[in-house]
Amino acid sequence: MNIGIVGGGQLARMLALAGYALDFHFKVLDPAPDACAGQVANLIQSEYDDEIQLNRLADWADVVTFDFENVPAAAAQILAERVAVYPPAQALAVAQDRLYEKTLFWELGIPTPVFATIDSLEELQGAAIRVELPAILKTRRLGYDGKGQRVLRAPADILPAWQQLGGAPLILEGFVPFEREVSVLAVRGRDGSTQFYPLMENHHREGILRLSQAPYLDRILEHQAWNYANRLLDRLHYVGLLAIEFFVHEGRLIANEMAPRVHNSGHWTIEGAETSQFENHLRAVLGLPLGSPTALGPCAMLNCIGVMPERAAVLAVPGAHYHAYGKAHRPGRKVGHITLRATDQNALRQDLERLLPLVGYPPDEFGAIG
Ligand code: AMP
Repeated sequence: MNIGIVGGGQLARMLALAGYALDFHFKVLDPAPDACAGQVANLIQSEYDDEIQLNRLADWADVVTFDFENVPAAAAQILAERVAVYPPAQALAVAQDRLYEKTLFWELGIPTPVFATIDSLEELQGAAIRVELPAILKTRRLGYDGKGQRVLRAPADILPAWQQLGGAPLILEGFVPFEREVSVLAVRGRDGSTQFYPLMENHHREGILRLSQAPYLDRILEHQAWNYANRLLDRLHYVGLLAIEFFVHEGRLIANEMAPRVHNSGHWTIEGAETSQFENHLRAVLGLPLGSPTALGPCAMLNCIGVMPERAAVLAVPGAHYHAYGKAHRPGRKVGHITLRATDQNALRQDLERLLPLVGYPPDEFGAIG
């Protein structure tokens, strides 16, 4: 079976690595000549609006999927005229715009931070009073890893934030003084069957995910997260893997955003779950039976930001698996991750304590781990 992927970053690379074992073949389409999935799959180097190249991909593939949500709607449309495309275009449209996303959450009864749409300085000034400071001003589109965001702590922050971000449609969100951040992965097949992965706890710094741990053992929150995910899968007639990020505040889930694709917080599933998120996404979009999402033990994933740690030192830690993305090292860039699986929480904590300095994180980076 032939699978086309729009976007050739590390997510496409890991989809291809998971799929070769199942005898699938991959072509990835990306404008960058050094797109890292091109090291393991056939690369069509092309802009996302190049109709000839999109048609080439569509004619070769049995199904086309994405490794990022900001695929231009026109590209998805061109592909969909010739080949099955999953996840559905509607899911992309929702995930591309924080306003549509939060509005859909709200319609489905999924709690969100208070929010207001902002198109002028006057609207921002008015909304800052209604939403109350502190609040976060975000671009509606094309923000990731904390980019395109400014925290407003006091009225004096309003004008500089507007001057920095005001050229684009914006949303103002109430700042949630969360206890922790969690996420959930759900997958839905072409036949409507579903599977839900255990809840995961995530630690960010400077807007970038650093550490995920799974399972995060809170059965009540986990069922709530599965329930919210199910509402989204249903409403969007979703096919593929969907990730949702939440804040936990006063024991409740508050949805931050969703990603209609495999997700960084789910990389632990490569060695830590019966079926990885990558394999399950492929099974879903190809109409194959879904695999079990059960965790095989306490797991963690550490992102390598900017530079990869020394391979031998990582591999000396029991249960550690080294995943380099084949990307040039650059500050702030995700260049790989380390997956950890342990027999119990104590062992996981000990292994993490050995790994933290290797990836350049201070030993107390995440407070009391475990
Ligand atoms: P985002 O790009 O929306 O995922 O935001 C990146 C990170 O910024 C999140 O993981 C949070 O740590 C933080 N953040 C975003 N929105 C809020 C909010 N409304 N309240 C508190 N923290 C937030």
